[in-house]
Amino acid sequence: MTTVTIPPAKGDYQVGREWREGDPFHWKEIHSRFTWHGTGKVNMAYECVDRHVAEGKGDKTALHFLSEGEETTYTYAELQREVNRWARVLQQNGVKKGDFVFVFLPKHPFCHIAMLAAIKLGAVVGPLFEAFMEEAVKDRINDCEGEYLITDHSFLDRVIPEDIPSLKTIFVTDKQDGEYISITKEAEKETPEFETVWVDLEDGLNIHYTSGSTGKPKGIIHAHRNMIQQYQTGRWVLDLHESDVYWCTAHPGWVTGTVYGVFAPLLNGVTTVIHGGRFSAEAWYGVLERAGVTVWYSAPTAFRMLKSQLEGLHKDYDLSNLRHVLSVGEPLNPEVIHWAYKTWGLRIHDTWWMTETGAQLVANLPTRTIKPGSMGRPIPGIKAAVLDEEGRELPANETGHLAIQASWPSMMKEVWKNPEKYNTYFPFGGNWYLAGDLAYMDEDGYIFFQGRSDDMINSSGERIGPFEIESKLMEHPAVKESGVIGKPDDVRGEIVKAYIVLNEGYEGSEELSKDIRGFVKSSLAAHAAPREIAFTAELPKTQISGKVLRRELKKWEKEGVL
Ligand code: ATP
Ligand code: MG
Repeated sequence: MTTVTIPPAKGDYQVGREWREGDPFHWKEIHSRFTWHGTGKVNMAYECVDRHVAEGKGDKTALHFLSEGEETTYTYAELQREVNRWARVLQQNGVKKGDFVFVFLPKHPFCHIAMLAAIKLGAVVGPLFEAFMEEAVKDRINDCEGEYLITDHSFLDRVIPEDIPSLKTIFVTDKQDGEYISITKEAEKETPEFETVWVDLEDGLNIHYTSGSTGKPKGIIHAHRNMIQQYQTGRWVLDLHESDVYWCTAHPGWVTGTVYGVFAPLLNGVTTVIHGGRFSAEAWYGVLERAGVTVWYSAPTAFRMLKSQLEGLHKDYDLSNLRHVLSVGEPLNPEVIHWAYKTWGLRIHDTWWMTETGAQLVANLPTRTIKPGSMGRPIPGIKAAVLDEEGRELPANETGHLAIQASWPSMMKEVWKNPEKYNTYFPFGGNWYLAGDLAYMDEDGYIFFQGRSDDMINSSGERIGPFEIESKLMEHPAVKESGVIGKPDDVRGEIVKAYIVLNEGYEGSEELSKDIRGFVKSSLAAHAAPREIAFTAELPKTQISGKVLRRELKKWEKEGVL
């Protein structure tokens, strides 16, 4: 298969200046960048905020919030004062080191302030996704026997205190009087100084539940030491320079929104854009223009939606500041990369990591050629391999289990209440951490995601990854999105079945199915062509990160929904 590669853009990239391909790199080399290296005193919140103020950068804009009808900014000094006031309120209400503090707030500077205030006093923060309903909120807080929650009145209908017996105190960010403590009102009465509670690098920092793509979400606890890798990937993968205006579109309830929406940009001292509100192409292009975003981190589902808009829509907006675009969360279809390159003149840099890994491990560095379809190569300091069922390394281009050599600085601290689960990530013993993803690595070390281990389709003895077919389907003019699964079949074991969402102006028909099937057959492989096609208005997706839920499609299939 010939791949049209995309050469590196010309730019002054930090990774290119500080590291060259083939150079050794060890995470220890950057320990001296942190204040704790000199002082022995550790706290993520300090490194994110206070140190910049101490270094004379207090006047720099830390947060730039935009939503319909509201726009505010916080300098680093203002952020420091707010965080301190909130931390004082939390402390006076009993929050102490090691406690869980859940934060259930919309995308807003208050969400950042709440998280940092909890962290500053050594608590473990649990950000909850803004669209969670009662059950999701309850399950997570109960699982941790959480005592503290910071939320907003408009979210309270989804918090049922009777169902969460451990919950002692609820803080709300609204100023009105009510049965809960108004943290904003109380904070106004406080002085803006707070004695940081110093912790160990190994102490708990945050808990995030995985997306639940393959089963029940797992509670993953991370430690303060994560900052080492989160800072460094912010510097080398996101290429954050202090002058950058950076926008990560994820809500902190998804690990990306915390690590790359809160920690990494603040550690690097840049201006973080926060957009309150939902996706619309107009709103998002508007944010890029209005805030002058230079570095933008989003997800394939958003890029696909932008691609499906009226051609030329982007021309109504001034996107000239934008210089670096990244993606994460699910496979990034080559078609989307080519479209973005043609339309915006920008490369989309795919990155791969998991809730458990705490930071990016595989990525397209800005200095590297992109091979569309590949999520990139292991970043400096990371070693990856593709293993067979017995844990042996496979040769180039053979599909197997993606594995990473442990350990790295942001590796999870523990799986909450499930220590046995931790070991299941190391099924072959030794140091190979298994992601649960299938991939192959080409001779240049580029890794090509093939699907979840659970999603592999076995048809007439051929192992087929759903992603390659989905990407091929996207090249067909009628196809907007698709989800491909294996349907049990007596003769072949499984057959390929595709659920397809059509672009506007197309209607599902037997003829169109035939055309699509023929298209995959002639341009990919006969055995990959979906024997069955179902047209659907929408695909089931994970609530937080918008990933296509193939296990839900398998359920549809089993129950004969479509
Ligand atoms: P759960 O573990 O609960 O089933 P999840 O794996 O989707 O859910 P996350 O930790 O949010 O939870 O996502 C990590 C997974 O997302 C990876 O294992 C991988 O399957 C997928 N992923 C992340 N980035 C990429 C990428 N760039 N390309 C392809 N897949 C990706
Ligand atoms: Mg997972």
